[in-house]
Amino acid sequence: MPDKDKIGYRPTWAEVNLNNLEHNFREVKSLLPGEVKVLVTVKADAYGHGLIAVSKRLSACGVDYLGVASIDEGIKLRKAGVKTPILLLGLILKEDIQPLFTYRLTPTICDRQMAWALNAKAGALGKPIRLHIKVDTGMGRIGVLHNGAFKLVKDIHKFKNIIIEGIFTHFASADIDRKFTICQINLFEKLVGNLRESGIVIPLVHTANSIGLIDYKDSHFTMVRPGLVIYGLHPRESLGVNLKPVLALKTRVVFIKQVGAGYSVSYGRTYVTKRPARIVTLPIGYGDGYPRNLSNLAPLLIAGRRFRISGRICMDQIMVDAGNLGPKIGDEVVLIGSQGRQKITAEELADLSGTISYEIVCGLGSRIPRIYIS
Ligand SMILES: *Cc1c(COP(=O)(O)O)cnc(C)c1O
Repeated sequence: MPDKDKIGYRPTWAEVNLNNLEHNFREVKSLLPGEVKVLVTVKADAYGHGLIAVSKRLSACGVDYLGVASIDEGIKLRKAGVKTPILLLGLILKEDIQPLFTYRLTPTICDRQMAWALNAKAGALGKPIRLHIKVDTGMGRIGVLHNGAFKLVKDIHKFKNIIIEGIFTHFASADIDRKFTICQINLFEKLVGNLRESGIVIPLVHTANSIGLIDYKDSHFTMVRPGLVIYGLHPRESLGVNLKPVLALKTRVVFIKQVGAGYSVSYGRTYVTKRPARIVTLPIGYGDGYPRNLSNLAPLLIAGRRFRISGRICMDQIMVDAGNLGPKIGDEVVLIGSQGRQKITAEELADLSGTISYEIVCGLGSRIPRIYIS
């Protein structure tokens, strides 16, 4: 049990194994030709793993770029002393460009208006700005539509105070639709080729997220952008890559009571004991981002055995029918991770919850302290 001065007095915490994070990073690097650069996405608090600790460890391992969603995430990194280049994967408003210069953040743009604003600001400050241009080849989200991209890049290339450092696109369906993904790669490749022929060579050309990186070798270009696999999570089954899980979610038994058969547990009385049982209460709930639709479904590990949540998940507490088994107050309980020979993955919880592993780990709330193992 970790230090209470650091993590507080509620015995619920997430362990983040930075050695495993490093292992995954090196594993991913080993799949790539040496000259391909790696941007790791650390948006959404590094997928719930902790923005600063994760970014510092990756920087120490030589990650080339960090990807965040917003200016605020970038500022947090700079204030924590992270020196690695930072790409804003999301868009910003024109009125918010000052921090890009103050904190050396690389913006993503997809239109001329923003290029104008950045060029003017960079001119006024006497400091050219590096940026990446986002192209939509089929995601239908941000990005200039692919058929207008050539012209846009040519125009932005003319701005004196702008350095086009990167160009990128994003896969919509790489996990399930090979044909569409290859079509996206071809559109992008053709664009980059046309630009090159017209004399515009952009150093960082990137499109591969985790699944792209593993399943589409010709999507690597000069940089890749994995997130999920770096956190040891699998974008699909049997990846053929040796990943180690980074995050474990744990709590401890705070209460146990003996009840008779036919006793109901939690709101709505959806669980009723079939025989006399010991009901265990654990201090974690949907207020921590543990999905309420896992009520009566999610497995958890106590004393090396698998149990299932009994009744509805409350905001701050969950209950487990432990039958006639005898967990004790203070026993460690694993909600994600392993105990003895048993294991529960974020992927398993995601399946039960009808979502993806990304949402399970990103959803873990700030009320859960992160304990770093390194
Ligand atoms: C989050 C994100 C990624 C990483 O995706 P994973 O599936 O986690 O590897 C890559 N590119 C962009 C633009 C993203 O927003």
